[in-house]
Amino acid sequence: VKKKAGAYEKQAPELNQAAVLGAGIMGGGIAYQSASKGVPILMKDIREEAIQLGLKEARKLFVKQVERGKLDTATMAERLTGIRPTLSYGDFGTVDLVVEAVVENPDVKTAVLGEVEAAVGEGAILASNTSTISISRLAKALKRPERFCGMHFFNPVHRMPLVEVIRGEHTGDEAVAATVAYARRMGKTPIVVNDCPGFLVNRVLFPYFGGFERLLAQGADYEHVDKVMEGFGWPMGPAYLLDVVGLDTARHAAEVLAEGFPDRMAQQDGSVVARLVDDGRLGQKNSRGFYRYE
Ligand code: NAD
Repeated sequence: VKKKAGAYEKQAPELNQAAVLGAGIMGGGIAYQSASKGVPILMKDIREEAIQLGLKEARKLFVKQVERGKLDTATMAERLTGIRPTLSYGDFGTVDLVVEAVVENPDVKTAVLGEVEAAVGEGAILASNTSTISISRLAKALKRPERFCGMHFFNPVHRMPLVEVIRGEHTGDEAVAATVAYARRMGKTPIVVNDCPGFLVNRVLFPYFGGFERLLAQGADYEHVDKVMEGFGWPMGPAYLLDVVGLDTARHAAEVLAEGFPDRMAQQDGSVVARLVDDGRLGQKNSRGFYRYE
């Protein structure tokens, strides 16, 4: 953790219009969270179906708020208009901060970041929601790398309070300040961390998953381990959490950590998570992981 997140906030520029690239699980969640806190957001994707799905998810979350009596219908309608869907960069000239949340592929991300940098004004801040790609590496595609950093949300965005703000090699203070301030306006708890494989949270979480894998290799039953960890007081055990994260996502992150820290994060042979992914079981996202979801 670098300087405390709060230390940056005095330098934060004004934020009137945000944008998110990608209307998937994360992009849709980010759009909802921003609009629900009154920060208007453009939501861009390359597929109309993705945009419709993202909007549907956001609407569902707003309706839940109304049902719980936390929001009236007039405010809901107003907040919903805060999400402006688009397939083009046409309206990006007035955007203050863009969160990139497209697929986890360095080539796609690099191309998209280059495109958006050309579409926004010179003062705009760009942030990537990548879980595993180095921020300094992504910055290489940019003309203004000092205005770029990581903004790593967790899934589901509306429930997970933490946001990692990642400082790449060339990231300037203003980019960090703006991103920290945006996270706070979204009602989140930002922490500022260095750019390294796994950032902070996954460097803590994946050794735990590794310990779980070792127990399974020794014959432990995953449901039993989950019950034990719930008994210990955690909201869910490792098998269920892996299903929530997505087993393919977890496998990929484990590989990145193993490459980054070969001495202590090397993966053992016969990982159960890898086997489940090979069987097409990806977790909650396709209703089959360690558990089945109807
Ligand atoms: P997703 O597959 O649900 O959504 C990705 C979206 O990006 C799709 O709708 C796709 O159409 C769109 N897209 C692809 N190319 C595009 C382009 N050129 N311009 C605009 N949109 C484009 O993926 P996701 O789970 O939302 O993940 C998005 C990012 O967030 C990834 O970098 C991922 O690593 C990161 N992340 C995911 C999680 C998670 O648990 N799912 C958690 C934290 C971070």
